[in-house]
Amino acid sequence: MKMDQLREALPQWVDASRIFAKGGKVASYIPELAKAPGDSLGITIMDASGETASAGDKHCPFTMQSISKVFTLLLALMDNGEEEVFAKVGMEPTGDDFNSMLKLELVEPGKPFNPLINAGAIAVSSLIRGDSPAAKTERILAFFNEAAGGASLAINQDVFRSESATAHRNRSLAYFLKDNEVLGEDIDVEDVLSVYFQHCSIEICCDQLARMALLLSFDGFDPLAGRQIVPKRYVQIAKTFMIMCGMYNASGEFAIKVGIPAKSGVSGGILAIVPGRYGIGVIGPALGAKGNSTAGVHLLESMSAALDWRIF
Ligand code: GLN
Repeated sequence: MKMDQLREALPQWVDASRIFAKGGKVASYIPELAKAPGDSLGITIMDASGETASAGDKHCPFTMQSISKVFTLLLALMDNGEEEVFAKVGMEPTGDDFNSMLKLELVEPGKPFNPLINAGAIAVSSLIRGDSPAAKTERILAFFNEAAGGASLAINQDVFRSESATAHRNRSLAYFLKDNEVLGEDIDVEDVLSVYFQHCSIEICCDQLARMALLLSFDGFDPLAGRQIVPKRYVQIAKTFMIMCGMYNASGEFAIKVGIPAKSGVSGGILAIVPGRYGIGVIGPALGAKGNSTAGVHLLESMSAALDWRIF
């Protein structure tokens, strides 16, 4: 389907999926997130020439939350290489909730199963280069801005403070990592958590999310800037994790029904890619039982089936 046809058809798809927001609930364990409009749904699709099709509510900006984990993983890989990163986190899906502690004692004690669960993403945050939490956060923001095509993304300080003040579970995960030396001697747990909460609190709109997704869709080559920003191998790793565990413990179902690499966040955002074709950004704050946007998933599922997006 051509971009102008897509632009024309998109509002109908969005309208047909809106109703599914009723089956979900806005996240409230981070109190600041509870303010989001639960019935909203919006999407932007971007192609290699930068043309976009958008429809629905902008509800803009929203915080990236777990979507940010894909890009901190890429930065950690660029900073340290594969070997060092995978000394700290594994390569396996868990089938558990994103903030689960259940499997942390299995296989190698304390080593998180993958970089997209909270424990793994906290370990990844500790690998970002920089002399201080502020310096690391600045590098993360600079990288995200580059990936978003020269954006000026910023951190939502209210969401950051709200999460930091209530993150008892993430704190316990991080101390557990420290106890097991996944976070080494020289690493201060609160410093790592501060970096993690800040990258989760980066604000974004669907257009910028689609732009970041486009970079992954073209294996780290930015088709608009005309240059390779991330090595292809690292994007390959990120895309594999997105398929295996990007939609938490609903990743298998999403892979079967929607069939494209994606990553969701607890604010209701979803970054999805149709490899070699589109970057997609979705927002729908009402979440289902497994933490994914109910309307957002329905929208991607119906579009993927109709437009033959499935990669398998
Ligand atoms: N910042 C959130 C947390 O750590 C991210 C989780 C998510 O988006 N699933 O709980």
